[in-house]
Amino acid sequence: MDCVFCKIMNGEIPSEKLYENDEMFIIRDIDPKAAKHYLMIPKRHYKYLSEMTIDDSAALARSLGKIPELSEKLGLQNGYRLVINQGDDAGQTVPHLHVHILAGQPLDFPDLRK
Ligand code: 5GP
Ligand code: ZN
Repeated sequence: MDCVFCKIMNGEIPSEKLYENDEMFIIRDIDPKAAKHYLMIPKRHYKYLSEMTIDDSAALARSLGKIPELSEKLGLQNGYRLVINQGDDAGQTVPHLHVHILAGQPLDFPDLRK
């Protein structure tokens, strides 16, 4: 599978896993867009939310529920933002579903119409 996140998952591309369980892992984004920028990556490869099986959606819900438990370890105590880019308009570049976790500073929320 020619997918950067599958390669990281398999250890073909080295990356520090800050957290890992049997359903997902969390790494630092290589090109951070905030003081703290992590990626939470489900282990099963799929691109779109629309492709999720019932098991995938339950796994994603459990994975989201883990984030507050990791608040101290990841430095999220002052708040954080989750982003899932889907498709071209959102600028999705990696075709393996992932949740951006942005934190560590006040997060601007620009009016993108301007
Ligand atoms: P997307 O634009 O698909 O929502 O986000 C993909 C993210 O993956 C980008 O923020 C990009 O910086 C990150 N990324 C791409 N390749 C790598 C990599 O090899 N390692 C890590 N840690 N992040 C990556
Ligand atoms: Zn993948």
